[in-house]
Amino acid sequence: MVQLAEKSWPEAGKIFEENDVAILPVGSTEQHGPHNPLGTDHLVAARMAFEVGERTGVPVLPVVPVGVSVHHRQFPGSLWVPPDAFRGYVRAIALAAASHGVKKFLVINGHGGNTPSLMEVAGELRREHGVFAAVASAFPPMDGHAGEGETSANLYFHGHLVDMSKAVDTKQNEKLGGLKVEGFNFVYPGRFAWDTLDLSPTGVLGSAGAIIRATTASEEKGRDLMEPYIDELCALMEELKKADIEGLLPKPHK
Ligand SMILES: [Zn+2]
Repeated sequence: MVQLAEKSWPEAGKIFEENDVAILPVGSTEQHGPHNPLGTDHLVAARMAFEVGERTGVPVLPVVPVGVSVHHRQFPGSLWVPPDAFRGYVRAIALAAASHGVKKFLVINGHGGNTPSLMEVAGELRREHGVFAAVASAFPPMDGHAGEGETSANLYFHGHLVDMSKAVDTKQNEKLGGLKVEGFNFVYPGRFAWDTLDLSPTGVLGSAGAIIRATTASEEKGRDLMEPYIDELCALMEELKKADIEGLLPKPHK
């Protein structure tokens, strides 16, 4: 068992003597269609972090459960923090762990909206603090938000939280007012600051015009989707464990 939250401080001292690498799961609390739990992104991130930690012997920090999700705000229960608060919080957690000897992080992120902020923090840690962070999605590439892939992952990891009787397939809107929408957020060639509700009345979200399916999800599909990806994350972690921190940090000025 490698969850930091379950260890005492003397145990943690020993763990950080033996490990200069840790996993930081981050996610969000936001609508995931009428059938999935609001916590999908942080529950899956925490589970993936747990699986990778168990299989590689690397300590897992507590999950960050609320992220950059303001675009889901019209759906009851969705929570969010501003990007600067999120960046500051994640950076502070990483630096606290670094003070105990962690020099390399694998951030396992369950929510795409967090990615730009996490990459900014990773850059700052690397440039200014001598700390390396690789940022990986908690999910492999898949069909959209709350669709077959994500619903199947939930069914595989914590099926009792999914109500498949409420699952829906959703045709995505193609118009914003009189403008034609492409992808998530193009009124081509311009972009706009989209909300989920602009594209999808149910919260099951893909790209404009597409039909995003959730009713076809299954536990078996979840296993077939997530288990190979756990292996990929473990392979990265094994490389990260071996890597010398000096080689991962920025080159000096020429
Ligand atoms: Zn999600």
